[in-house]
Amino acid sequence: MQKEFKYCPSDFASLPAKPIHMDLHFDIYNEYANVSSTMHAKALRELKEVSLDARDLQILSTKIGSKECNFKYDKQNAKLTLFFPKKIKKGENFTISSNSICRPTKNILEGLYYDRTPNNAPPTQITQCQQWGFQRLVPCFDDMCAKCTYTTKISADSRYTHIISNGDVSSQRKNIGNKRCTITYENKKTPMAPYLFFLCAGTYDSHTREFEYPGGSKFSLELLLFPGSDTKAAEQSLEILHNAILWIHIFTGKHCYENIEKRRKLYELCLQREKIKSKKNKIKENTKLANLRKQISALASSLKLGYKYTGTIYREIGMQNSNFGGMENVGNTTITANRIMPHPNMPDGAFEYMIAVKAHEFYHNINGSEVTGRSPFELWLNEAATVFIEDKYMQFCAGAQYSRLSQVMRIISPDGGTLDFDTGAITMPILAKGFNSPDELISDVTYSKGPEFIRMVESIAGKEKFAKALAYYHKKYSHSNASTKEWVDAISESTKINFSKMADSWLTQTGYPTVHVKKQFNAKKKLLILSLRQTGFKKMCWQFPFSASLYDAKGNKIAIKQIWVKAKTAKISFPCKFPPAFISFCPSFLFYGKINYPYAESGLYSQLKFDADATSRYMALEKLAQKERMQILQKKKKHFSKKFMQAYFSLLADEKLTFQMGTEHLAISSSVEHKYLKHRYHALHIIRENFRNQIAKANKEKLLQIYFSHKQKKFPSLPFVQKTLAQIKARSVKNASLSLLSSLGEPKMHKLILSQFKEAKSATDKYAALSLILDSKLPSKMKIIKQYEKECAKDPVQYEVFLSLLGGNDSPDAIKLMKWAQNSPNFDISQSNEHRMFMRFAHNKRLSMQTSVGRAFLKKIILRLANINEYSCVHILSAFSKINDFPREFQPPLVKMLFEILKKLDSKKVPFVYNTIRRTLKGAPKAVKEYEKKARQNKKTRILTCHAKNFSFQPAGKKSPSKPKSVP
Ligand SMILES: [Zn+2]
Repeated sequence: MQKEFKYCPSDFASLPAKPIHMDLHFDIYNEYANVSSTMHAKALRELKEVSLDARDLQILSTKIGSKECNFKYDKQNAKLTLFFPKKIKKGENFTISSNSICRPTKNILEGLYYDRTPNNAPPTQITQCQQWGFQRLVPCFDDMCAKCTYTTKISADSRYTHIISNGDVSSQRKNIGNKRCTITYENKKTPMAPYLFFLCAGTYDSHTREFEYPGGSKFSLELLLFPGSDTKAAEQSLEILHNAILWIHIFTGKHCYENIEKRRKLYELCLQREKIKSKKNKIKENTKLANLRKQISALASSLKLGYKYTGTIYREIGMQNSNFGGMENVGNTTITANRIMPHPNMPDGAFEYMIAVKAHEFYHNINGSEVTGRSPFELWLNEAATVFIEDKYMQFCAGAQYSRLSQVMRIISPDGGTLDFDTGAITMPILAKGFNSPDELISDVTYSKGPEFIRMVESIAGKEKFAKALAYYHKKYSHSNASTKEWVDAISESTKINFSKMADSWLTQTGYPTVHVKKQFNAKKKLLILSLRQTGFKKMCWQFPFSASLYDAKGNKIAIKQIWVKAKTAKISFPCKFPPAFISFCPSFLFYGKINYPYAESGLYSQLKFDADATSRYMALEKLAQKERMQILQKKKKHFSKKFMQAYFSLLADEKLTFQMGTEHLAISSSVEHKYLKHRYHALHIIRENFRNQIAKANKEKLLQIYFSHKQKKFPSLPFVQKTLAQIKARSVKNASLSLLSSLGEPKMHKLILSQFKEAKSATDKYAALSLILDSKLPSKMKIIKQYEKECAKDPVQYEVFLSLLGGNDSPDAIKLMKWAQNSPNFDISQSNEHRMFMRFAHNKRLSMQTSVGRAFLKKIILRLANINEYSCVHILSAFSKINDFPREFQPPLVKMLFEILKKLDSKKVPFVYNTIRRTLKGAPKAVKEYEKKARQNKKTRILTCHAKNFSFQPAGKKSPSKPKSVP
């Protein structure tokens, strides 16, 4: 019998000793590193022995104080136990030392591993320690509470251009003979949790820039890139980083909502100062600069500003092979090389991601690194508030409405959005019950539902109060660890609002509330009453903010009310003479959940026209589209109505709107909310294609006009980031038009696509055209793709997008193309970027799960990836989370496939993948039954019984029941 999770909260008991300081020496060679470590610690109880975390190491010797001591290494459980010759008393300081060897690999992207290496250079070695990478480097307490200071000496091949660890250099780099050198870093200012440890020996191009705070203090920004990287793009990257750091200083912190106009002015002046600083003729500009600095300093001293960096250098390092987009490592943020700078071949979505990730990782300095959650279960504490601030920054850069709508779309998408995932077989509450690998906690729930919980708290407390409360939390737990309860208590204490029950409802339950709204209008009393009833909770009802705005027929907002829903039912009443033309609920997605209200079609069309909030307008459009789609699915009609198509097209043709929103407000899903019908992927695909075709047929000439007018758009007066964001929006309008036109399948449109592909000046234009070529029936398709692959292989950014486009390809050739791509000599399965092709394919469930060739290919991928990269493999498995609701005919083959995969996997070698499949099956009882039924019909009952025994479940910690349970 196996537990559902490998780790539970009880596994994180308090440490036996508090580490104070670690002296480390990494002697790095091409194949291995010899690591000497001395940990200075204080006993927190009487100790006869101590168990350290040590994963896949070779232990050479251990010492207590200056004497050798015995040890036992349990490799399987990654525990190294040291036996002390005499007891250590509680409160006593002691040192333990070890000498061990770690060996980097190419595919375990944790601990020390090899990254892409330039020709003729020694192999680039880099670390990833979140969450448990440090124990792959050295025996340690690999615990988020084990915060201590570090002195790290590194010896390595002197050909490395960069040998780096956390902190400031305390002993400069010097040669020690034998073509080797040594350098020492000291990280003594901020005690650091082990997951933040960083080490790198590599060959890079370095780009630097000064960062100057308004008050005058300075530190340097450094960008480490693969040799030969574009200098201009590197400069732009540093500018983007600079602006994010400046924004965090000026627009976050306790007083960030005071004197907003003065803050804007300060931000502008600092940017002006930077512009002057970048000019070549510095002497000419000196007086100007001095005056500006005076003005900036005076303005800054009248304001109370936010977080200031404490180090002397802040680096961003591009890593090619990584499971994560970015990782904060106290002063040494790593970012996947394809997202670190505005690369010429970068797609637009990646550009926006790049702006966000830089702000995100830097904000971790305060939220995560200085104040840290207590255990991996509290990873959400580190991430939620960080994403929350990152989102505010994106709203500042790209416009509040545009940026918020992009986030909301990722949450509400009926097929694969966070809400959808949060009711699936493998979801966990924000405070998870357990995990098999800490990577499991890096999910949509942590990065999307967590921040939404914080937004809801903010909207109940008010922005000003919440900013003060967050600052209070950061001050109270500075340089230490906080638990979830401590976070909630700090916010409650500061705002004087008790959030504990609200927090319980959101942190310990999966899913979300659905609010059923009934409207009653009393003409006599001139009263409108909204009765709310929530469903969707298990243990306790959800607590959340809810609001309603009434609009009249002319589109004026006539009343608005917001309440805090704390019980199963609630009421909102408005004095009002006439019934409103429409009611708009919860602007900007005020609470994480759904609203069930009998929307009248006319009301939705009015909302689409008049609602002040872009997210609400989008949701009205989506509701109208879903109504139409449902009718077609249920065969009540054949096509979308003319009215809807006109409304849709007018949104694309409205230039003022598209300037603000790009095509974000038009990106409706191809799915429906219906629990079962949403999995009829093939039927929904046909409906989507017909819709595109109908729109294109009705508006062909106008679409061509929109296409060509947006092709010309330029925004010369805007600064770099704003200009790029405006270009991104204009490009999306152009490419949406081209995509609609392509659905006509006319030779003229093929010509247009091909010419865009050949002449594209921006990467996104090229990729948009390529994606249309992939979906088309163009006879020259294969030739174009083969040629393009050769070109792409030279550039990792381009190659990643190319593979991702192949994976997302919707044409009948999709699988053939992927098979061809993975057999190409350019394809390297150990690289995590290469896995994107498989991930996109897996989530295109129409092909991957609802066709037999798709399933066969998917099975091969899962078996192959499971032993190479569990993280990528589990991402692929998340596509199975809703098979319980799939059409019946697809359930038996999918369940069978999962069982067959389980049989071939070693649960000890790949526990994350293995247990995820088991949990998926457990969460799909109907599908498993359907499989059993089918198997019985095929007289395969025997195999089934065997399955039932192998894969039954037992709740963690409980004794095994006398009878084995049936199949999950
Ligand atoms: Zn983060």
